[in-house]
Amino acid sequence: MNSEDPPPGRPCAMTSRANWSIQRPGGVVGIVQRVQELPAGTQVGLLDKHGQPLQVGPDLALSRCPHCSIADPMLVNSGGEFTTQGRGGHRQWSLFACRTCGGAVMAGTKHGSPLVIECYPRIEELHAAVPQRPCEYLRQAAESLGQPAASIAVSAAAVDAMLKEKGLSHGSLKDRIDQAAASHLITDGMKQWAHQIRLDANDQRYAPALPTREDARRCLDFAIALADFLYVLPARVTRGIQQSAPQPQLISQL
Ligand SMILES: [Zn+2]
Repeated sequence: MNSEDPPPGRPCAMTSRANWSIQRPGGVVGIVQRVQELPAGTQVGLLDKHGQPLQVGPDLALSRCPHCSIADPMLVNSGGEFTTQGRGGHRQWSLFACRTCGGAVMAGTKHGSPLVIECYPRIEELHAAVPQRPCEYLRQAAESLGQPAASIAVSAAAVDAMLKEKGLSHGSLKDRIDQAAASHLITDGMKQWAHQIRLDANDQRYAPALPTREDARRCLDFAIALADFLYVLPARVTRGIQQSAPQPQLISQL
C-alpha cells in the first residue's frame, strides 16, 4: 500500500465513471468518496462532510449543496419518503431541501438501512483506491470550477501528484505526460487528450485570454479519467481476479 493511501476502513476524505459520475447539466459541485471498506454487514455508501458514512436523518450532511454549491448546506428532510423495488433492490428514498437555494436532493438507502448509497442530483464519486493527495486536489478542482484558473491549477496538481506517485518526477508536466505514454503508463489517446486541454492555465498559446469554466471542466474530466485509469481500473481488476479465483475445495474436487 502506498504511504498516501488511506488506511483500510478509513478512505480519504472524498468519492466514479463506473464509479464516477458527473452531474450534468450545470457541472460538478463537489466530490465525495464512496466508502469502500465499512465494517462487515454494512452497505457500501457515501461519506458525509465529516468523513463518516452519510446517513439519512433530520438533515443530510453533504459538504456542498449539489444545486447551489454552498458549503456546509442546510439540507433539511422534507418528510417525503417512498420505497421502490426492482433491479436496484428494495430501496428507500428520502427528500431533502436546501435552505439556501430551495433545491431538492433525493437520497437512497437500502431498505432498513440509514446509510445513503445513492444521491440525486448525482454527486461526483471518487474511488477509495485513489491516493489521498490527488483525491484532495480533485475535490478542490471540482469545488472551484467557478474560478477556472484556480480549478485548472489544482486539476494540474492532481495530474502531477498521480504521475509523481508513479515515479515520473522530472521535467515539465507536459514532458511527464509524454514519458507516461512512452512507458505505456497511459495510452497514446490519453496523451493526446492531455495535450488538447488547457492543463497549464498560463499556457502562452492562450494568452492573454483567461481560461473558461469549460476549460476547467475539460481539465477536471481528464484528471478524473487519469485517476480511473491509474488506480480505479487496476483495483477492480485485482478484485475481479481475487473474486474469480478457483476455490481450493473446488480444485480438489476436479
Ligand atoms: Zn442549495
